[in-house]
Amino acid sequence: MFGTGLLKGLGVTLKHFTDTFTDDRRKEPSRYEGSIQIDDKRRIIDQPITQEGLLTIQYPEERRLLPERFRYIPMLIWDTEAGEDRCTACGICAKVCPPQCIWIVRDMDENGKPITRPAEFYIDVAVCMSCSFCTEFCPFDAIKMNHDYELAVYDRYPHLVYDKEELTVPVEYYAALWPTQYAAEEEVRAREKEEARRREEEKKKAAEAKAKAKEAGDGDAAKPRRTKEELDALKAQAAAKAAAAKAGDGGAAEAPAADDAEAAAKKARLEEMKRKAAEKAAQRKKESGG
Ligand code: SF4
Ligand code: SF4
Repeated sequence: MFGTGLLKGLGVTLKHFTDTFTDDRRKEPSRYEGSIQIDDKRRIIDQPITQEGLLTIQYPEERRLLPERFRYIPMLIWDTEAGEDRCTACGICAKVCPPQCIWIVRDMDENGKPITRPAEFYIDVAVCMSCSFCTEFCPFDAIKMNHDYELAVYDRYPHLVYDKEELTVPVEYYAALWPTQYAAEEEVRAREKEEARRREEEKKKAAEAKAKAKEAGDGDAAKPRRTKEELDALKAQAAAKAAAAKAGDGGAAEAPAADDAEAAAKKARLEEMKRKAAEKAAQRKKESGG
């Protein structure tokens, strides 16, 4: 029948109107079921399915409970256990950010060598479009999406250009906002840590086995090292031996010279004897009248 839908809709509105009054008369109105009281005035409400009457909330005193995957602008994670930023200043997030609203300055050591830590990190939150690309691409789980959407300020600059200090939150804050994602990531991190520990242990064992094998196969390696005194004594011994050898070589060189002189003297004596024998023979021949 014409107008039935219209009447039905008006009936629903009227029911909400009356339910709001009856619900508000209860000690705890149904919309506050499971709500979290922040302070005297503010509370976070998770509109329950049993809610009757009023569907709007009284912002800013009342706020909606945000779903875990709600995202607004990024935040940088401070690793409380390690006492350092998770960010290594690799710059991947800045590269993939579609509106290019991330600036990073890498830190340096005392020698001017770049180190894996950001000295400065800025995000222009007025430009950020909450796409979450930066968090998706970060290899170190160092940047995550914050739930904080109350960023209103009077001046855009410098208030909406967040620096490292404004962006950094402890890992516990992230764990409270994103409990499911945090638990899944921690599981992966624990697995990777265990794997790294196992690899390290294997490496250590292999190095020990290699050292043992070298010790067994190489006798010299097992020999104790000589002291300086022992080395000096060995040097002195070697020098003495060399000097003795040299002296021995000199005598040997003189021996042939002595032999030659003796042979020459012998030869001279022989010549003399021959000459005297020839003279005697000539004398005898003369005396015999021949
Ligand atoms: S937040 Fe992640 S991706 Fe961005 S610079 Fe730091 S470590 Fe790299
Ligand atoms: S959420 Fe998107 S726009 Fe915002 S900083 Fe990350 S990558 Fe850039």
